Amino acid sequence: MTDNKANSFCPLCGGNKQAGNTTYTVDTGKGVVVIRNVPALICGQCGEEWIEDPVAQQIEKIVADASQRHAQVEVLALE
Ligand SMILES: [Zn+2]
Repeated sequence: MTDNKANSFCPLCGGNKQAGNTTYTVDTGKGVVVIRNVPALICGQCGEEWIEDPVAQQIEKIVADASQRHAQVEVLALE
């Protein structure tokens, strides 16, 4: 794992991307899953967020599990 992407530029505004944490919200159609503490690269200028593939896969799994429980609102946090 490298953090080299943290040094790249935002394709939208040319600002600097910085490593940080965000809150990710997914509407499954049956309910809403809120995942806190999601590591992401965040543009310091426009606030656009990028979630890397391994994290996105983790989120997909969490969302699939949560929608099976048919919770209206589920709030979770990544480590
Ligand atoms: Zn930007």
